[in-house]
Amino acid sequence: MITPNLATAISELGGLIEDADRILPFTGAGISTECGIPDFRSPCGLWIKNQPIPFDVFMASGEMRDESWRRRFVMEEIFAKAKPGRGHRALASLYRAGKVPALLTQNIDNLHQDSGIATQDIVELHGNTTYALCLECETRYELSWVREKFDTSGQHAPDCSCGGHIKTATVSFGQAMPVDAMRRGEELTRHCDLFLAVGSSLVVWPAAGFPPMAKHNGAALVIINREPTEFDALADLVVRGDIGDVLAPFIAG
Ligand code: NAD
Repeated sequence: MITPNLATAISELGGLIEDADRILPFTGAGISTECGIPDFRSPCGLWIKNQPIPFDVFMASGEMRDESWRRRFVMEEIFAKAKPGRGHRALASLYRAGKVPALLTQNIDNLHQDSGIATQDIVELHGNTTYALCLECETRYELSWVREKFDTSGQHAPDCSCGGHIKTATVSFGQAMPVDAMRRGEELTRHCDLFLAVGSSLVVWPAAGFPPMAKHNGAALVIINREPTEFDALADLVVRGDIGDVLAPFIAG
């Protein structure tokens, strides 16, 4: 069912939430647009400005590693000042109420952690852009350290003392998916009774495989996104509205 208006959407969603014991939210960039972080595929999204740098290109080219860090630091002001939005706060309320055991996200912005959901209960499928890792020895680097090296070297990406390249702790196109996160995502998906896909175009695979997996395992599937997605026909409820408006009534306290 595609809900005809906001009131119906909120009432239908409220009923499904009330009936559910184990809700699994699955979030995408759309939940963070009201926090000032552009998504990828909307008309003013990041994709339009800069095509992503695939992993093999990052590995092969020092210039592209420099470019990748330049782009990251251009975005820093936006990431640093973003606060959880109404969608994040509503999901955190459901988490505190015991309805949401854990959350699956494609986002890399750390806003679910900032909303009060414990880090161990957030499964990040595409990593996190608020810190960096050495791709060889996995040493963690803070962005302030990378920035200082970058600025004092004439805008060159620093390498780790082991010789490995340092990259934000995100998963680029062509980079292997994190095995643990995928395994946990699958387990959570198989055991939920309500799957809430929020703010994702559902075109990035393998993450996009989770909503149909949930449905095939007997969970109710809800898709909240202002644009149609490929899985709308499979969903029990489709809400084509603004995420903040739809989820605001579920913010507790
Ligand atoms: P996407 O850009 O492909 O899709 C976002 C969807 O959200 C779009 O269909 C858009 O119409 C919808 N949307 C945007 N704002 C909305 C709103 N306020 N209400 C309702 N719908 C809204 O994003 P994706 O599916 O998450 O996949 C893109 C990849 O980009 C992900 O892997 C993610 O890691 C990465 N990404 C993350 C962030 C972030 O962490 N905030 C931002 C940009 C991109």
